[in-house]
Formats: sequence, structure tokens, C-alpha cells
Amino acid sequence: MAVCHWCDEEMPKGGSCSVAELHRGGTSVAMIPFGDERPRWSGEKCGDCGVRRGGFHHPGCDIQRCAVCRGQMLSCGCRFDEDGPDPDDVAFDHEGDLPGIA
Ligand SMILES: [Zn+2]
Ligand SMILES: [Zn+2]
Ligand SMILES: [Zn+2]
Repeated sequence: MAVCHWCDEEMPKGGSCSVAELHRGGTSVAMIPFGDERPRWSGEKCGDCGVRRGGFHHPGCDIQRCAVCRGQMLSCGCRFDEDGPDPDDVAFDHEGDLPGIA
């Protein structure tokens, strides 16, 4: 079972993530709750992280939209304070299955 490392919930249980906002330069940025994103997901539960409508996605969810650029949160590249200070020093591999680079 995948456990969200932000809220320690097992994601498929359908609970909202505790991460309702992140910060950029110390300014809070409210996350977009499931059901408010565009394009709209048609099910009652998020097809990726399993949160119910109205709850907050668990970060890393495919369907979560970025509150800053409205792109896919997973791949949009916006940085938040919670991501750590220096993007160039952080290996951001969501995939985890990159081909072996020696
Ligand atoms: Zn979570
Ligand atoms: Zn989700
Ligand atoms: Zn973004």
C-alpha cells in the first residue's frame, strides 16, 4: 500500500491529505481540492491517489493540478518552499525507474 509521506495516510483509503497549502517565498498557496481542477475528473474518487471529492490530493498524485500554473502538479516544475531550497541540487525523480546511468 502506498502511504503518503506528508500525512502518513494510506492513499487508497480516500482520506484528504493534510497538505491543504504549500508556500512560495513564505506566501501560502492554497491547493486545489479534488473536484475543482480542470479538466474535471468524472469519478467520486481520484483515479490516482484515491481521495474523495472535496478533499486534497496527496502530493505526487497524477491528477492534482498546480495551484500556481494550473498545469499537472507532478510535472509542471513550479517550486514550493516545501520542495527544498535549490532545485539544481535536488534529484527530482518521480519515476524512480530511470535507466541505469553509470
Ligand atoms: Zn497525503
Ligand atoms: Zn489525487
Ligand atoms: Zn505549476
